[in-house]
Amino acid sequence: MFVVHNFINGEFVETAGGQTFTKRSPVDNTVLYSVSEASQRHVDAAVNAARGALNGEWGNLSTEQRVDLLYGVADEITRRFDDFVEAEMADTGQHRHVMEHVFIPRGAANFRAFAETIKTVSSESFQTATPDGRGAINYAIRVPKGAIAVICPWNAPFMLMTWKVAPALACGNSVVVKPSEETPATASLLGEVMSAVGVPRGVYNVVNGFGPDSAGEWLARHPGIDAITFTGETRTGTAIMKSAAEGVRDVSFELGGKNAGIVFADADFDAAVEGIYRAAFLNSGQICLGTERVYVERPIFDRFVNALKARAESVKYGRPSDPGATYGPLISQEHRKKVLSYYERARADGATLVTGGGIPGLPADLASGAWVQPTIWTGLPETSAVVREEIFGPCCHIRPFDSEGEVIGLANDSECGLSTTIWTQNLSRAHRMAARIDVGICWINSWFLRDLRTPFGGAKQSGIGREGGVHSLEFYTETRNICVKL
Ligand code: NAD
Repeated sequence: MFVVHNFINGEFVETAGGQTFTKRSPVDNTVLYSVSEASQRHVDAAVNAARGALNGEWGNLSTEQRVDLLYGVADEITRRFDDFVEAEMADTGQHRHVMEHVFIPRGAANFRAFAETIKTVSSESFQTATPDGRGAINYAIRVPKGAIAVICPWNAPFMLMTWKVAPALACGNSVVVKPSEETPATASLLGEVMSAVGVPRGVYNVVNGFGPDSAGEWLARHPGIDAITFTGETRTGTAIMKSAAEGVRDVSFELGGKNAGIVFADADFDAAVEGIYRAAFLNSGQICLGTERVYVERPIFDRFVNALKARAESVKYGRPSDPGATYGPLISQEHRKKVLSYYERARADGATLVTGGGIPGLPADLASGAWVQPTIWTGLPETSAVVREEIFGPCCHIRPFDSEGEVIGLANDSECGLSTTIWTQNLSRAHRMAARIDVGICWINSWFLRDLRTPFGGAKQSGIGREGGVHSLEFYTETRNICVKL
């Protein structure tokens, strides 16, 4: 069987003793390949390799030389585009279209975007008066933070991993990546790319395994790691923050969301239905920025619910490679159990089921996959766990509202603060509301429209820090002040 190995100091490393775990297909539950599970010794070796790289050839490269390598990485990803698409399709079960148009191109774009950023960033300087009248000059330089742990989720694995690896390397750091145990394939492929374009050994390392008492925790606790960037669940972020406290290491966190979608009666109706459909159901609802709470102004409430129902019922189930299919499975049987527990909870809390609510009847070759129906409810109280907790599945609850003030209150009544999408033709209202909703990103008449130069991150329990453009430099570099007495 094919084995995905750890990538340490420029080499693919088999686990001593052959310790492996199995990766199954979300589509039909068949075994896809096995993965070498890193031991604590492998994590040590990867961290040592990353530290060694900082003091070796990599640490001596000029910014221009690093930028050339990053462009090379982007070009090589593009050259091996089909390999990345196939690997990510197999790991996630999601469709070719989303891989080809969003997730894989964004991986290459991340390397280009941060190569551009680092080339053009400036630093500050001050002329300082001194008592002897001769003065001093103060200026700042940015230096790499060191060896960075990059701990990643499974929902858009390559895009989210490169969103961290690219700025880390652009700033001159080295990395040890811990991909999700559900989706290790593209992190391994990126190791091949790094070698092919001549990124020095030890700059990019990958250790495979799980979270607690496994590669994730060992990496986060490792004293050789200078900072940790993590995307995943808020609960995991809490555990990682405790690990980071030892040694007072910096963290950058992109965590969970329970995002509101708000539709006013004056919205472009069809665009709003399509926008909320994508926000709730793209990637089978497994996008942190997705919308699980929808608020619709009362005059169009019934019409909107019916239109979204029709749209949700139009999905075509199928394998990622099936060109007619538009909808994939959840990532795993375990995640399906979690999502179905919320479907059950909605029933228990008295929801009106608009559509879905269970497992679809599918042909025998798909029946063992982690499929669930796209699901819409109405009629739940805002106190229901279904409305308050992140489900991370293809589902949403829709509730009517009557005023701007009321819907701002509803949107803000959450421990999370990642994103919001507002649909209205009244732009004054849209700007006004965007300033009052406590989130990291507010989309108006759009959703998931990203400019990589903008700050990205979450408010409240949805994260710590901002990544994107120059904002990434705040985390991936230390600013050093240099004071010269004249
Ligand atoms: P997860 O938190 O379960 O796992 C993420 C990673 O952390 C995995 O690699 C896992 O092995 C590792 N991990 C788990 N426990 C750990 C520990 N104690 N120490 C160190 N590492 C540990 O998240 P997931 O289920 O893979 O991803 C889905 C979650 O990610 C959702 O909550 C979603 O909202 C969030 N997410 C957020 C963003 C964002 O930008 N805010 C983007 C994508 C996903």
